[in-house]
Amino acid sequence: MKILLSDAFDKSLPGKLARFGEVFDDKDRLAEADVVMIRSKTKCTKEFIDAAPNLKLIIRGGVGLDNVDQAYAKEKGIAVFNTPAASSVAVAELAMAFLVAIPSKIIPGHRGMIQGQFLKKELKRTELYEKTLGLIGIGRIAREVAIRAKAFGMTVIAFDKYVSSSDVAEMVSFDDLLQRADYISIHVPYTAETDKMINAASIGKMKTGVIIVNTGRGKCINEADLAAALQSGKVAAYGTDVWYADPPDWESCPLLKKDVPNVYMTPHIGASSNENLLRIGEIIEEIMTEFTKEK
Ligand code: NAD
Repeated sequence: MKILLSDAFDKSLPGKLARFGEVFDDKDRLAEADVVMIRSKTKCTKEFIDAAPNLKLIIRGGVGLDNVDQAYAKEKGIAVFNTPAASSVAVAELAMAFLVAIPSKIIPGHRGMIQGQFLKKELKRTELYEKTLGLIGIGRIAREVAIRAKAFGMTVIAFDKYVSSSDVAEMVSFDDLLQRADYISIHVPYTAETDKMINAASIGKMKTGVIIVNTGRGKCINEADLAAALQSGKVAAYGTDVWYADPPDWESCPLLKKDVPNVYMTPHIGASSNENLLRIGEIIEEIMTEFTKEK
């Protein structure tokens, strides 16, 4: 069996997979691959799949499968697996990091210090304590965020179109969430329904000065509408790990314009903790064991 590691995985993965066949990371050898392992970077489009005539299995080390043309893979008889349970803590910790760092003014404080400015008078912090956090989606990652936010003394409310009760959050309508939340954290997958769900209309219903954190998917945001809301002050700050085009186009992404304030960003590293990459490797090994047993 020939296994192409098309994206970056933990360095222990090739060793774990050696018993299943030849493991390589040379993308020019896609045509030979029986199995392709991807994370976020590789897009398994129709063209990609057509370029791999031997392909029987795609494994996405991660949660969302929006970078795989699942319908076309199914048509071609290619099995598709992901590792949905592995990443919850890693992503939840990054969401919490934004939720703590933004109102704590860690980033402007740090930037000032580097530039020789001691901004003690200028930087006023706000607390998470007794504030309301609105979670959009109450799946695996949001649940971990809720538990951590409660430890900070936050009230946690959530909207989920497909979940009506939760032991970690008060379930509310989308409109209620927008109106009540001091902080909003996005944890839905990207689907036709969640496409640009944060837009001028939904932002209009939010509290002035709301802080939005996005470790879900960039395509859930209308970036131009959000950039305008950051400029007007309606939205106080946006912390994001994910982008409409991921990675973003440096020239055209509205959130990267110099006159759009208070955008705090990371390059889609939510799942990239050392611990998570190790967990993903272990789950991939289990998937390979089951898959090869069936053959
Ligand atoms: P999950 O499936 O456990 O939870 C998603 C929740 O969203 C579910 O409860 C679902 O009912 C809800 N939902 C779906 N459509 C909705 C809609 N239209 N309106 C409201 N709620 C809706 O998934 P998870 O493991 O918590 O991951 C959530 C998302 O986080 C993933 O789909 C992925 O896009 C993103 N993610 C990002 C990173 C990163 O590196 N930043 C890593 C992993 C996952």
